Amino acid sequence: MGDSSTKPSEDVRQRIRDAGLRATAGRIAVYEVMVGAEGPLTHNDVVDILGPRGFDRASIYRNLVDLTTAGLATRRDLGDHVWRFELAREGGDHFSDHPHFVCTECGDVVCLPEDEVVVRVSAGEGAPRSLKDRQVEIQIRGQCDDCS
Ligand SMILES: [Zn+2]
Ligand SMILES: [Zn+2]
Repeated sequence: MGDSSTKPSEDVRQRIRDAGLRATAGRIAVYEVMVGAEGPLTHNDVVDILGPRGFDRASIYRNLVDLTTAGLATRRDLGDHVWRFELAREGGDHFSDHPHFVCTECGDVVCLPEDEVVVRVSAGEGAPRSLKDRQVEIQIRGQCDDCS
């Protein structure tokens, strides 16, 4: 894919500054990779994209953590002991605000639109408190188009 328009938007700079971080080239680059992603990304995914552009593994990781700590991104272990990062959505929470499709073959993870999968939470007797508080995540597991 073409890489001609690498000029960071003023919008991204401002969002990073508003979160209390300096808008360094590395943070802007990491943020923009996440903006363009279809799903949550692992550290390695981001390294694959930004490594060729001269960013090193360690600073990419630091920037992912910085963005997460500042509340711009969120991270989750979806069960395979790998951290995946994605941008926090408007209004905060997180991985729990939309379901994820996880491919059981290649491990690819894609964000699903909120209305694609609707789970009715009644949180009655016997339901864990975390369910009522929405501190849970919805995962749909199956094969992605490439694997099925
Ligand atoms: Zn797959
Ligand atoms: Zn997502």
